[in-house]
Amino acid sequence: MTDSYVQAVNSGFTKTLAKKLGLPRPAVLRRHRAGDPLTVGPVLVLGGTPGVHDDADRVASALLDTFGLDVRQNADDQIRWGAIVVVLTQAERPQDVSGTVMALSASLRGLAPNGRVVTISRAPDDGDSPELAATREGVEGFLRSVAKELRNGATGNGVQLTDDAPVDSASSLATLRFFLSARSAFVDGQVLRVGGSTAADRGTTSASGEPSSGAGVAASPAAADPSITTDRPLQGKVAVVTGAARGIGAEVARTLARDGAKVVVVDVPAAGEQLAKIANEIGGTALQLDVTADDAGARILEHARARHGGLDVLVHNAGILRDKLLANMSADKWDAVVAVNLAAQLRITEYLLGANGFSGEPRIVSLASTSGIAGNRGQANYAFSKAGVIGHTRAFARLLGGPAGPGGTANAVAPGFIETEMTASIPFVTREVARRVSSLQQGGQPVDVAEAIAFLASPGAAGVNGQVLRVCGQSLVGR
Ligand code: NAD
Repeated sequence: MTDSYVQAVNSGFTKTLAKKLGLPRPAVLRRHRAGDPLTVGPVLVLGGTPGVHDDADRVASALLDTFGLDVRQNADDQIRWGAIVVVLTQAERPQDVSGTVMALSASLRGLAPNGRVVTISRAPDDGDSPELAATREGVEGFLRSVAKELRNGATGNGVQLTDDAPVDSASSLATLRFFLSARSAFVDGQVLRVGGSTAADRGTTSASGEPSSGAGVAASPAAADPSITTDRPLQGKVAVVTGAARGIGAEVARTLARDGAKVVVVDVPAAGEQLAKIANEIGGTALQLDVTADDAGARILEHARARHGGLDVLVHNAGILRDKLLANMSADKWDAVVAVNLAAQLRITEYLLGANGFSGEPRIVSLASTSGIAGNRGQANYAFSKAGVIGHTRAFARLLGGPAGPGGTANAVAPGFIETEMTASIPFVTREVARRVSSLQQGGQPVDVAEAIAFLASPGAAGVNGQVLRVCGQSLVGR
């Protein structure tokens, strides 16, 4: 599925016409291609005090050491920045933020098309003083506004670190890398909370295992962690993707396979032929299965173990629409949507966790939707199911990450308008409005959702748990 308007306003005569008429001209987004550089130009790191080895300095060192980026800490009018990273982790009072924000203000016009602004700050915590809480929440509101001011395919996103997570932990850097990269092309105005997940993340140990001495230590603790720089972070992992015969699910399967996973693609028997094609294309295996079946969890586990020797990643993607205004809703339509989109996810995850079905620490990613966050006219059943997905994601995350939990993560991805057969069935005018009401003024592609899921499934995202990542181009609907 394509958005021909984006192509038209970016090429030939129609581009000139659109300019003359003052029509919105959504940018052609830069998407990941193997071998392309991480950013489209040098990275400016703002924040901190010159000459002091503080958090900004640590981030700058890590971007240089770990990702080999061209990193600067001083503004320069002659440079088109590929990204500007704004480090505000040490801000404790509202007035601590203004110097860094003004430095961003002065450099923002130098941001290249498809550039990135990423804030790194501390997550609000229940124990915060009112002043600290105000400062931390303030950064989030600031970031969301800045994202709305960016143009030409540039995006703004935030990494929010819990107090136990060093600024250069593996998960912090992996999340920063995702936001800097072309993999997050359609993720805009989002804030991801990152916790201290591993011993290395929490204790700021050096690569040798020795505690770091703080000031003056240049190498980041994550610098030696290959899982955050490799192109195949899922090598040796087995992933199951439901609803993978077409649309977002098929692209998720392709992307996880590209990242090294062996993938089991699952879909209803009626989609069997298409499912087999996807399985062949990616060197995976197909399992024809209705996810609402009572024994769906058992069959998934049996297949994954028999064909691939285990299970590491589970992506709950299968979903359906049965839109009706609530006044016209039949019990059939309500029940079908809840059964596929929500109850099946719950039953399968509970079975797999109860049966100790995951080989190591489970990685579970579930498809929610912006409709589940903001609500949508005519989608009461769908919104219930997708808000329910957010609910169980947070509950499973607490269970996995709790003191007696097995470890692992459960996260949700909430797409906005994505160009698939599902959204092609939406009436033309509604579809056209849905495409344009976002900061990026266009619908996303299935690969945009797939990249977000691949990131959440990767080892580097170990500190991201219980989060809802919207892939919506900062849709004006909801947060
Ligand atoms: P799609 O309709 O193109 O594909 C869904 C797939 O799920 C199909 O292959 C279908 O056969 C399969 N499926 C349906 N019921 C099933 C069942 N009982 N058992 C096994 N497989 C089943 O949809 P899509 O647009 O690719 O959406 C994928 C997911 O993303 C869904 O959960 C959807 O709610 C969510 N989502 C999509 C968008 C969007 O804009 N496309 C937005 C938000 C959320």
